[in-house]
Amino acid sequence: MADKNVFDYAPAPESRAVVDIRSSYGLFVGGEFVDPVGGRSFKTISPATEEVLAEVSEASEHDVDLAVKAARKAYTRVWSRMSGRERSKYLFRIARILQERSRELAVLESLDNGKPIKESRDVDVPLAAAHFFYYAGWADKLEHAGFGPDPQPLGVAGQVIPWNFPLLMLAWKIAPALACGNTVVLKPAETTPLTALLFAEICQQADLPPGVVNIVTGAGGTGRAIVAHEDVDKVAFTGSTEVGRLIARTVAGTDKKVTLELGGKAANIVFDDAPVDQAVEGIVNGIFFNQGHVCCAGSRLLVQESVADEVLERLKRRMATLRVGDPLDKNTDVGAINSAEQLAKIRQLSEVGESEGAERWSPACDLPSHGFWFPPTVFTGVSQAHRIAREEIFGPVLSVLTFRTPTEAVEKANNTPFGLSAGVWTDKGSRILWTAEKLRAGVVWANTFNKFDPTSPFGGYQESGYGREGGRHGLEGYIR
Ligand code: NAD
Repeated sequence: MADKNVFDYAPAPESRAVVDIRSSYGLFVGGEFVDPVGGRSFKTISPATEEVLAEVSEASEHDVDLAVKAARKAYTRVWSRMSGRERSKYLFRIARILQERSRELAVLESLDNGKPIKESRDVDVPLAAAHFFYYAGWADKLEHAGFGPDPQPLGVAGQVIPWNFPLLMLAWKIAPALACGNTVVLKPAETTPLTALLFAEICQQADLPPGVVNIVTGAGGTGRAIVAHEDVDKVAFTGSTEVGRLIARTVAGTDKKVTLELGGKAANIVFDDAPVDQAVEGIVNGIFFNQGHVCCAGSRLLVQESVADEVLERLKRRMATLRVGDPLDKNTDVGAINSAEQLAKIRQLSEVGESEGAERWSPACDLPSHGFWFPPTVFTGVSQAHRIAREEIFGPVLSVLTFRTPTEAVEKANNTPFGLSAGVWTDKGSRILWTAEKLRAGVVWANTFNKFDPTSPFGGYQESGYGREGGRHGLEGYIR
């Protein structure tokens, strides 16, 4: 990225030779890769270059049915009968293979998703392994988890995940399900299927009994078939609020258990006594991490009026040092937008922001000529009525609002139909507690942002969904 004040780093590309991408992939059903019944397929591309990476199968209703049958068979004959201690061995084995193959997984994730390699390498893959380690530890201790003396699994879990953290969302779904004795049929998002397919190979490598994990690729239709399948006992979904509503309608009146992890519009609140440099790092991390494709992104900055000018000036200076470009370059801070559709959505909402009167700013930035790119962007002069303050943009776009008193900050922060996360920046412990108690959000970070750990529960209020993932709480959704 071109800025006079920043010296150029020499390119430091991670080698893509570490990963072996097949030209085409079948569906992973019953422990094997099989061709889809209808023979349909689609292409997955690199969003940074638009290069086709592989041809991936599109699972029909019939294919989903075969996957559910394989999962049911594995559940009744093997997995639900196995002791927790034995199940935990498989989960530990998977966790260790994820670590061993972490470089391969990180490169593949960055290629298929567009996220910077330093994030896939340092966040996505280690956290995915950590989830398997953590839930492996629970598998033989479920009677101590607080859900009764003899907790029983539900059966077959149908799991549908989004494209922003493909491997990590897979881990959030599969690890607790398996630990509790369920088997799964999982569908990755249509733009990012490759790490889930590599995970299928890892299940083979770990000798996981056939049918315990089934991976079916496809788009919304495949997801619908999983959710509606009558032999699925549990639906776990992460994605948009819109699709979450459709799913809630589909399962209403059935015996299926459901968890929905949906959208967000988090407030990141900076009080006048906050350490400004740290807060600026937290604001940058909150909205530009993973190109802002983060459900809990701090997309609304609420800054106390008396320090607003100073915070904004330092924020802009910091934004000018962000390096946008090749996801495989280890210097890159902001990678590619995941798809042409998502880029169009970000552009459209940003134009709405301008037309509604907010002031738009981005640092000088050379964007690559191919692929899908959007510069880090900040909007000032935003009011609560503006669409960019209310709707999830899911991109590297920050809306800045100001406040005068703590009460006003809390009122503005809570003025949203979502309730997934929030951040508080202040020097005073008492103010952190006062604010956190009043914020209606599933996660509140204090003097930090976007921190994830397999031991702590994650989930939302209102239109951000229901149910919790992670931690002991995450077991509850997979126990009868
Ligand atoms: P999306 O809802 O369009 O798609 C998510 C998944 O659902 C994909 O696999 C998709 O193929 C599938 N799908 C689409 N239509 C379906 C249907 N009718 N029935 C069943 N499955 C269907 O969302 P997206 O654009 O991929 O992801 C972005 C959204 O996900 C954002 O709103 C973001 O906030 C949310 N998200 C939430 C969390 C969380 O933990 N709360 C985490 C990550 C992303």
